[in-house]
Amino acid sequence: MTGNDDQLVAGRSCDGCTMCCKLLAIDVLDKPRGAWCSHCDQKHGCTIYESRPDACRGFHCGYLRLPQLDDRWKPSKAKFLINYEAHASRIVIHADPQRADAWRGDPYIKTIRLWAAASSREGSFVLVWAGSKATIVLPDREIDLGQVREDQLIVPVERRTPRGIEVTFEVRDP
Ligand code: SF4
Ligand code: SF4
Repeated sequence: MTGNDDQLVAGRSCDGCTMCCKLLAIDVLDKPRGAWCSHCDQKHGCTIYESRPDACRGFHCGYLRLPQLDDRWKPSKAKFLINYEAHASRIVIHADPQRADAWRGDPYIKTIRLWAAASSREGSFVLVWAGSKATIVLPDREIDLGQVREDQLIVPVERRTPRGIEVTFEVRDP
């Protein structure tokens, strides 16, 4: 999650974690989701720290920003990180492709479903990336979108059915 340093939870730090350097796509480095950045030393952190791109400089994941998440949510332990994409008003989970189901375990899934329910009431959804594979999490189900490119859009579509209005999702080219 991006934002100001003064919005970080006191006592939280990146110490011992480099997961965003694997899980996030960094356009200016041509780095895809789910692959280690070539500048990352997994033990010691960023090897170009002073000149790292702004996208890295300004990034603080949900663990650093949300006081209700305890240390089990630290990305190095959880094997996923949480971000809020303000431009799309959605919570995004970036999962380690090597541990793509970690977010479905305890204690995470219960909280993630609560986020999905709150998002749904606001017409949004929780999105999970595991590399380039995207999954939508709704309060009562998941929708596997398969491989989605960086430039494609994920669009909710309402459909009239005998059971009432149902929301599905389409992947569209830009
Ligand atoms: S994933 Fe979060 S805690 Fe880990 S290094 Fe990145 S910003 Fe820090
Ligand atoms: S440039 Fe540095 S901070 Fe940015 S992803 Fe690579 S290793 Fe991480």
